[in-house]
Amino acid sequence: MVLNVAIIGSGFAGLGAAIRLQETKVDNIAIFERASDLGGTWRDNAYPGCRCDVASNLYSFSFAPNPRWTNTFSYQPEIWRYLDDVAPRHKLRPLIKFEHDVTHVEFDSVAQLWSITTTQGLYFARTVVLATGGLAEPRVPEIPGIDTFAGPLMHTARWDPSVTLSDKRVAVIGTGASAVQTIPRVAGQVAHLDVFQRTPSWILPHLGHPVRERTKRLFATLPLLQRMNRIYGYWKRELLVLGFVKDPSRMTRAETIARDHLTRQIDDPDLRERLAPSYRLGCKRVLLSNDYYPALARDNVELVTTSIQCVEPQGVRTTDGVLHECDVLIAATGFFVTDNPMGKKVRGTNGATLAEAWRGDMSNYKGTMFPGFPNLFMLSGPNTSLGHSSIIFMLESQLNYAVKAIRVALQRNARVEPTEVAAEQWTSALQEKLPGTVWGTGCASWYLNEHGKNTTIWPDFTFKFRHQTRHFEVRDHVVSN
Ligand code: NAP
Repeated sequence: MVLNVAIIGSGFAGLGAAIRLQETKVDNIAIFERASDLGGTWRDNAYPGCRCDVASNLYSFSFAPNPRWTNTFSYQPEIWRYLDDVAPRHKLRPLIKFEHDVTHVEFDSVAQLWSITTTQGLYFARTVVLATGGLAEPRVPEIPGIDTFAGPLMHTARWDPSVTLSDKRVAVIGTGASAVQTIPRVAGQVAHLDVFQRTPSWILPHLGHPVRERTKRLFATLPLLQRMNRIYGYWKRELLVLGFVKDPSRMTRAETIARDHLTRQIDDPDLRERLAPSYRLGCKRVLLSNDYYPALARDNVELVTTSIQCVEPQGVRTTDGVLHECDVLIAATGFFVTDNPMGKKVRGTNGATLAEAWRGDMSNYKGTMFPGFPNLFMLSGPNTSLGHSSIIFMLESQLNYAVKAIRVALQRNARVEPTEVAAEQWTSALQEKLPGTVWGTGCASWYLNEHGKNTTIWPDFTFKFRHQTRHFEVRDHVVSN
């Protein structure tokens, strides 16, 4: 049977796509999921302390508010449970083909169909929604000798709860978003912890707190109140665009708050100096934590800022010749984002793969479609990620456009793809804007591809993206049979 829509991935993006398609009466949908349960990045990132740094009232579907969030900024188990709760309410579980790892997605120009090769067989679909996300493939760094390490080595996104940390010597490589959340949890249970920092992060105080029972009851009985809370949170974050995008020098105020936070929490002047970033706040992801600095100040924790030379069976050797012995090695080293392996698995009509789009060699349309890839829609595509607000808002905006385009493709039994001109205009307009933003102020970050081009971030107010994705603009597309 030929599917109307094949959705790849069952995280926020994949589930959101299925819900919106069903609402518009598109049927015959399947969701391909490589794991045995749904949830995407919120299933996989189960390391201790994992938490969202966007408030839950905003980091949730607009059509599925949750009055029961127990914290204003929820922890991973609760976000995963939220998705697990949304799925049956929209009868999505029967659509999901679990343990179907997609290995190839290729357009057959004769049959005018996409073929989807999975580990459990071949499928065909008239349209495809790639909902695999930017933070799906953990990056274990290619440090010489890392595969010779004698003890357990785990990436934060592949946490193995059976690995005992109690009373062990543990090393964490990386000091990004995942590291600052898990280090405070790990530090208290281990005999010794080495934290290998390459670049210090800007860290602001975390304002998250438990939600009072009274507030939950109010949100449940008066949904409008929760909606107003969401709207307030949304606009407060939109104001940050003034600093991130319009005038990065405005970030000095936040830098002062972050410096004060560091000074208040770290007494040792040497440690404080090694933790002080020297790039503009916002250039790399801004982190929130109240317990990371205190964890580093513990007697059993050492911050190592000398570069790593190699990993040996007994531990990590730094370039000063010191071997930092450890029993367990944790890689909090991020993901393949601009070089997401999924990109190499998707091949369009001219033989090109989506990897070329991520390399910045191919233009895209609204971060969602690509010339030469008819009827294929990528959620969390190029330049749709954010440094300041909720990615769920961006996903829902992409879906406004994608669902309309899918309906055109299905109703007219047509191939829909953006024109080269429209895609080029969209891409070049963004690329012209990006160097003047905070992300272009000269730091190394995962927002940039191998050529230093930012193919990740949306450099504007999110309401502009919402406005630009509200319609299917026929003139920007080739619709052919
Ligand atoms: P990340 O922010 O990319 O951090 C990776 C860390 O590993 C950086 O400190 C990096 O140093 C370091 N690193 C990488 N390769 C290294 C090497 N070979 N040697 C030494 N250090 C190395 O990754 P992440 O912490 O997993 O977070 C990724 C993204 O996931 C975040 O930015 C965020 O968007 C999302 N996330 C969000 C939350 C949340 O909502 N709170 C939580 C976790 C993750 P450099 O800085 O020098 O490159």
